[in-house]
Amino acid sequence: MDYEAYHRRSIAEPEAHWREQAALVDWQRPFEQVLDHSNPPFAKWFVGGTTNLCHNAVDRHLATRGGQNALVWVSTEVDREVTYSYRDLHAEVQRMAAILLALGVQPGDRVLIYMPMIPQAVFAMLACARIGAIHSVVFGGFASQSLANRIDDARPKLVVSADAGSRGGKVVAYKPLLDAAIDFAQHKPERVLLVDRGLSAMERVPGRDVDYAPLREQHLDAEVPVTWLESTTPSYTIYTSGTTGRPKGVQRDTGGYCVALAASMRSIFRCEPGETYFCTSDIGWVVGHCYIVYGPLIHGMTTILYEGLPIRPDAAIWWRLVEKYKVTAMFSSPTAVRVLKKHDPALLKQHDLSSLRGLYLAGEPLDEPTAQWIADGIGRPIIDNYWQTESGWPILTLANGIDGVAPKTPKFGSPGLPMPGFDVRLIDDASGEELTEPNRKGVLVVAGPTPPGFMQTVWGDDARYVNTYWKTVPGKSVYSTFDWGIRDADGYYFILGRTDDVINVAGHRLGTREIEEAVSGHAAVAEVAVVGVADELKGQVAMAFVVLKDSSLAADAAGALKLEGEIMKRVDETLGAVARPARVRFVTLLPKTRSGKLLRRAIQAVCEGRDPGDLTTIEDPSALQQVRDLVATR
Ligand code: ATP
Ligand code: MG
Repeated sequence: MDYEAYHRRSIAEPEAHWREQAALVDWQRPFEQVLDHSNPPFAKWFVGGTTNLCHNAVDRHLATRGGQNALVWVSTEVDREVTYSYRDLHAEVQRMAAILLALGVQPGDRVLIYMPMIPQAVFAMLACARIGAIHSVVFGGFASQSLANRIDDARPKLVVSADAGSRGGKVVAYKPLLDAAIDFAQHKPERVLLVDRGLSAMERVPGRDVDYAPLREQHLDAEVPVTWLESTTPSYTIYTSGTTGRPKGVQRDTGGYCVALAASMRSIFRCEPGETYFCTSDIGWVVGHCYIVYGPLIHGMTTILYEGLPIRPDAAIWWRLVEKYKVTAMFSSPTAVRVLKKHDPALLKQHDLSSLRGLYLAGEPLDEPTAQWIADGIGRPIIDNYWQTESGWPILTLANGIDGVAPKTPKFGSPGLPMPGFDVRLIDDASGEELTEPNRKGVLVVAGPTPPGFMQTVWGDDARYVNTYWKTVPGKSVYSTFDWGIRDADGYYFILGRTDDVINVAGHRLGTREIEEAVSGHAAVAEVAVVGVADELKGQVAMAFVVLKDSSLAADAAGALKLEGEIMKRVDETLGAVARPARVRFVTLLPKTRSGKLLRRAIQAVCEGRDPGDLTTIEDPSALQQVRDLVATR
């Protein structure tokens, strides 16, 4: 069968398709209905069935692979490597679950997890799933105000945290940030469970704060049975990256998510149980939830939890791990690859990477020079995949692991084709009409019913879910991704950037991504952000902010001017003079979210002399200061 036919059937007969996939997971009680779409846009999957994420990720593997490594923790921050077999993981999760129960956590209660990349964070997630508590993992790099906002939104009964994380060898104390966040927040969690790593002294609030280690000792032999949950019971909430504004609390179900992930492990990632998966994301992001924790474990794989930078002790560390653990699938981001790109490419060649069948990249547009660089460097296939916190698993990529379905060839610059169950369409934003002919640019939308794994709603706010996502195209009820896309004659999609990142130069609508790609084609460029800035004459002009591989090239005015001219010429040649940035400015750092996404809206606001708005998710405020300084000097 060709993939297109397989995909068409998944859309035409969603119930048949997903009934088959549901056999990949264990059900305690079989479902009565595959899909309930009686109240669109809300889609309920596997209604009436009961299952449990923790059972599927841990318990069900005990009989066949109890001694196999489930979790390998590698920390280059504290120089430790610890492995947990499925049996060990089962014991640790039960201990953690017993502690949560002892601290009063009940099914449906929220547990906020504010943790560095340590095994106890994974135990806590799985323990919540085991007892039916809803976890809300907040990225450990967030400071107090961001954390306070999320505490108020999730209203957790309990917070699990630690004394400190570590980044680049420097201790980052978490506890004072957590205390300040709880002070800021309106909602006060009843209890705080603390993992003391001995990295940073911490104060305990009497009656509220408790230490994990002594409690674990008390519960060494804990046996906590799985709580069977109806498929549509919420399993967790997670916040979007906040690239475009106030983060949204995405709510996920139990059964649909479990099935979607189980299916993706083979169809997309081409993995077999017993193999090793290495996802370099953070557990605080959706990619980490899916492909550090749940996906690989549901599939009976070994998963690597890595605490550290990609360039420490040197930029070969990830490849050393691939060789050592015979990783078969690796998941990372274009941002991370761009970090490696500033280092010697010879470091990519020091290790035997023959086990690796693919490096999967997501989170941001994968520009061709970056893709080519890493493909040449590691000599393994690079697979782009496009998705969102909301979608729960990839919307567009290549599903080359489906039995009996002919594989598709990747195309540079394209994440690929819609995944089974995703009814992806392009909408002309002016007319609201669907674009059916190839090579037309439109807003990428998903028509309902949304597939298993997709968000159920915005936590606590059904109206926000409907109004934010489903009411953007007049007269049509479709989910908007807020991204621009184009589909070629072979059905491959290309992502052209976010709908709020379009530049309108004298009536020409240009995606920031197109211009960025042209700029990054210049050999000296490591990274670039292009934004549209209001202009009296042309409506808007493009402004480019560039990080050079070697910043000394633009250290003096003459060097900068020469490079600016070269880069403009490059854009003229690839896209035409209309796309040429009005200015190309050089910075050493671009403003990004903590998840590594460019904060174009903030750069744009600064360029236009406006207030950049909510900056709680910014990685390093000094990056925006550089932009401010440049704009001030003209
Ligand atoms: P917020 O919704 O809070 O503004 P965010 O959209 O950055 O933040 P995420 O859900 O983490 O939060 O990111 C999803 C977005 O990332 C997509 O909508 C798209 O813009 C971008 N993206 C993800 N993967 C790709 C990819 N492979 N190619 C191009 N863009 C991608
Ligand atoms: Mg988004």
